[in-house]
Amino acid sequence: MSVLLRVVMKMKFNTELLHNSFMGDKATGATVMPIYQTSAFAYPSPEKLEDVFNNKAFGFAYTRIGNPTVSAFENRMVVLEKGIGAIACASGMSAITLSLLNVLSAGDEIIASSGLFGGTIDLFQDLQSFGITTRFVRHIEINEIAPLINDKTKVVFAELIGNPALDIVDIDNVSAFLHQKGIPFFIDSTTATPYLIRPIEHGADIVIHSTSKYINGGGNAVSGVIIDSGNFRWDTERYPALAQYGKFGKFAYLSRLRNGIWRNIGACLSPMNAFMNMVGMETLALRMERIGDNALKLAEFFSSVEGIEVNYPSLPSSPYYERCRKLFDGKGGAIITIRTGSRKKAFAVMNRLHIPLIATNIGDVRTLVIHPASTIYTHSDIRKRENAGVYDDTIRISVGIEDIDDLTEDFAQAFAGLKEE
Ligand SMILES: *Cc1c(COP(=O)(O)O)cnc(C)c1O
Repeated sequence: MSVLLRVVMKMKFNTELLHNSFMGDKATGATVMPIYQTSAFAYPSPEKLEDVFNNKAFGFAYTRIGNPTVSAFENRMVVLEKGIGAIACASGMSAITLSLLNVLSAGDEIIASSGLFGGTIDLFQDLQSFGITTRFVRHIEINEIAPLINDKTKVVFAELIGNPALDIVDIDNVSAFLHQKGIPFFIDSTTATPYLIRPIEHGADIVIHSTSKYINGGGNAVSGVIIDSGNFRWDTERYPALAQYGKFGKFAYLSRLRNGIWRNIGACLSPMNAFMNMVGMETLALRMERIGDNALKLAEFFSSVEGIEVNYPSLPSSPYYERCRKLFDGKGGAIITIRTGSRKKAFAVMNRLHIPLIATNIGDVRTLVIHPASTIYTHSDIRKRENAGVYDDTIRISVGIEDIDDLTEDFAQAFAGLKEE
């Protein structure tokens, strides 16, 4: 039935997510892919195992290299993002690291924006000791990156919606510009999610997610994924790391990851966490619709509060309002930042809230709040913080699926408490 459906119908988001390919277990008919909680897979003869090891026969050998539950999750991400293949990793950070190390060598340069997720900024600093240098711009805009491009520039890396700066990349124009220069565009689309946009349809070459966030959706497992569009033509002279893999054509990038650096570094996803993601991601659109509605209503409420400055891309006051309409049909995602006037007031508001949890995560079904300057940006100097839209009085809110009246009422009483002090 499902097979027929796939042939005759052009499916919309949810139908495709649930039915595009059978994500259950062909061996037993289980409708949900079981957790293959095993390290190794045994074969009846050494010849069979030899064939599997040498990619001459389909099969699994060892969970670091491949596992049916993890494969099912990867396939589903390919369906969601419209790539040619995906590789799941132990975390979003390992996905970012491996996506880059797969093609970069000592002496190469990355261009990235300084408003990136703090962990990614720290990673770029770590890569410096391996001879990989990152040149930072304030925003990934053509006029800012053009002067920094040289022969060593091998990757431009951006978050489609910066976390927590909430700046939005003009992805179609930037990717067209980069492709003229022969440079691939790597997009961390964690905060946008495939529900808001499929970056590959807008020119992204490699898409990365921290699937710990909206894809998992329940805040119950850390993981990441790398999805390849298959569109970038890797010149193996410019990218010698791929030299042995040129024969795989558009699969060169994925082949080197899977047969080389990803399996050798060993940051594989556990079958249990792949399973948690598979269950969670089935409700991605439902959650994102509800979260988006809640976030817009909360942002509108914040705008009406005296002394509170709000940043949310689908508010007309955001400089990214038009881009948000064009790219995401006006949906603004799940993150809002507000400025309260002082660090003391930010802490007072957070201490008065009853519903949101104070935690360093996004993409949970629960609303979470954090004071970024004293936590995720504590290692950054003031300039870097402010480039990321993080001030001493900033609170980041990751909006959940609670009932909006309860959330609004809770924030209202927390703000009201400020005046009494
Ligand atoms: C959380 C996050 C990461 C890191 O992912 P982990 O799964 O925590 O390793 C990377 N990029 C963005 C935008 C994130 O929000």
